[in-house]
Formats: sequence, C-alpha cells, structure tokens
Amino acid sequence: MVRLSTSADCATAQDESRAALPLAEIDVPDGRTLYLRTAVPEDAPEIVTVVHAAFRARRPVDPPPTALLESDETIAATITEGEVVIAVLDDRIVGTIMIDFTGEQLPENHDPDAGPPPALLERVSVDPNAQGLGIASAMVLVTLDLLALQGCRQVALFVRQEFPEIRRWWERHGFVFTEDHQRSWVLRRAVPLLVEVPTADAMQALGERLAGVLRSGDVLIATGDLGAGKTTLTQGIGRGLAVSGPVISPTFVLSRIHPSMVGGPALVHVDAYRLGSSAEVLDLDLEASLSDSVTLVEWGAGVAEGLADDRLEIDIRRGADPSDDTRWVSLTPVGPRWTSVRAELEEAVL
Ligand code: ADP
Ligand code: MG
Repeated sequence: MVRLSTSADCATAQDESRAALPLAEIDVPDGRTLYLRTAVPEDAPEIVTVVHAAFRARRPVDPPPTALLESDETIAATITEGEVVIAVLDDRIVGTIMIDFTGEQLPENHDPDAGPPPALLERVSVDPNAQGLGIASAMVLVTLDLLALQGCRQVALFVRQEFPEIRRWWERHGFVFTEDHQRSWVLRRAVPLLVEVPTADAMQALGERLAGVLRSGDVLIATGDLGAGKTTLTQGIGRGLAVSGPVISPTFVLSRIHPSMVGGPALVHVDAYRLGSSAEVLDLDLEASLSDSVTLVEWGAGVAEGLADDRLEIDIRRGADPSDDTRWVSLTPVGPRWTSVRAELEEAVL
C-alpha cells in the first residue's frame, strides 16, 4: 500500500523528491508480484518502449496518437516536471501512467484562485504482452492514491473518439464524460480523500467525524473485503448521528433502521455484502426511507456504482502485511451534493 506523507497541494507536489517512491505490491492472477512505483529519469528508455508498443497495438487512427512522438527526452522531462507511475513485473517495466500537473493542455482557462488545476493522466499504457493481469486497473488505483496524498482534487484525461471501448473502461473506473475537445473526449473524476486509520477505535472516531457532515438523504456506499472495517466505521457514524444502537453486522437482516435519539436523521444500515448484484439492493426498496435518513450500504469491492447519483463512496483496504491493523480509507465524492461539501469533508476527516 501507499506510504506517503500528505503534502500541501497538487500543483507543487512534484518539486519534492526525485527518488523512486514505492507505491504498492500486488499479486497478479498468475501468482507473480507486480510492483508499482514512481519513475526516475533512468527509467525513461524502458518507458518509451512500453508506451510505443501499447499505442502501436491499438487500431491505427489518423492523425496518429501523439504518444508515438514520445522520446527518452520527453519522458525524462515528464518524470522531472510531473510524475510518472510505473508497473514492474519480473524486473521489467510493463505499464505506465504519466501525470501532468500544469493544466496547460486542458480546455478550460483554469482560475488559480480555485486551487490547483486537475491533474491530467497521459500515455496510459500496458505492454501488450502483459495484458489481462489487471495492471491498468492497479495503476489507476495507485495513481489516484498518489494524487490523493498530494492534495489533488480533480483528475482528467483525454480519450480519442475512435475508441469508445477505452472510454467505457475509464467509466468503469469512475470517470465521467464532460466535454469534447478536438478529436478526444474529456473524462474527469474526483480524486478520493485518503485517510490512514491505525486501529478499530480510530475507525469509529473517523465515522463520528464523518457524521458531522451528514444530513438527511445522504447515501454512503462502503466497499471492502470482509473484515475491512465497514461495520466498525458505521458504528462510529451511528454514534456521531446519535441514533439508537447497536449498529452490528446484520447477518440475517439485510437492512436495519436506527432512529435518531435527538430528532436528526435516522441511520439505515444495509449489509449487501452477500448480495450478488446491485439489482438485488435496489429490490430492497430503499427509496421510501432514503430522503429522511442517512443510508449506508455495505457492499463487496468494486460494484457500488448505480445505486444513487449523489453518493459518498467509501473504500476500505488493508496493507500487504497481515499483522498490521492499519486500514486505508478512501472517500470519493460523487455527484453535486458531495462535490459541494468536499472542503467540509476534508476538514472533518483529514
Ligand atoms: P466489515 O464490516 O468490513 O466486514 P467489520 O467492521 O465487521 O468489517 O470488522 C473489522 C474488524 O477488524 C473488527 O473486528 C475490528 O475490531 C478489527 N480492526 C482492527 N483494526 C482495525 C482498523 N484499523 N479499522 C477497522 N477495524 C479494525
Ligand atoms: Mg460488515
């Protein structure tokens, strides 16, 4: 997992250090270990090879992708001036995502008073011989973590309009189409807030602080493996909302309503971990209670979308070391409600 200290803001984060920063180790389906880290200038020649191979393996388009114009020098410059994430398998670089923090390529005229411009992901590439191992998804996950720890709030990318399947892939990773730009679509998403949570007590305390931002009608989707801490976080939220308890894992009951003891919103706690699909959750008919309560749905990893347009997505992960209780909680604001309270949310949880 990512081990970084939070720095002040997205735009200046890249000045810090030019040493390779380890980001994650992930077991891929064939049993090998994928290492993710930031690149150093010496990696440039190997990265160029991967970028060229990945973009040449796509259907040809006219004009050709600018990725094919990358050279050792241009990539070394991005490593120095921006940030480059790489994936390493068997000591070889097999994937990369390059990040430009300047905002210069984006269509908008960015107002510097509105904070740093969105980080732009570029040249997202996986070696054609290493596809089907989930490398691109792993790189996106750690890139979002990295951006979160650097204090970035928004991330954007371009997809050439000849590749609707690539657009759909990014949409599955939470990116949303915002506008056309020349021959490309612009897709964007919020960078999650990332919180390090060392103990179960700290997880409850996080829930309590989070409750301070919540109001009737809010929907929270908590994902993470069994034992990640979804119910523990919900207990803290219940305490913060002052609802009647106890908040427990509802093994036989899918959904439990905890009324407020102070005239505030009730907490509707749904444990959908064992349900097979979001259709089954929709079948629970939560709509009736949604508007006058806070609804928290516990869910298995990676299938939360589609339950509500406005939602706070909470993903809880453990590190690689099983003896370490630390959890990493990522909070992704989705939709206008959550985008508008982002600053408040940051204040409450960071
Ligand atoms: P889930 O609802 O995700 O299946 P639970 O909250 O029911 O998970 O269980 C999490 C378990 O892990 C609890 O027994 C809790 O005490 C323990 N735990 C240990 N460290 C942490 C931590 N940092 N955050 C949350 N829970 C933790
Ligand atoms: Mg649970």
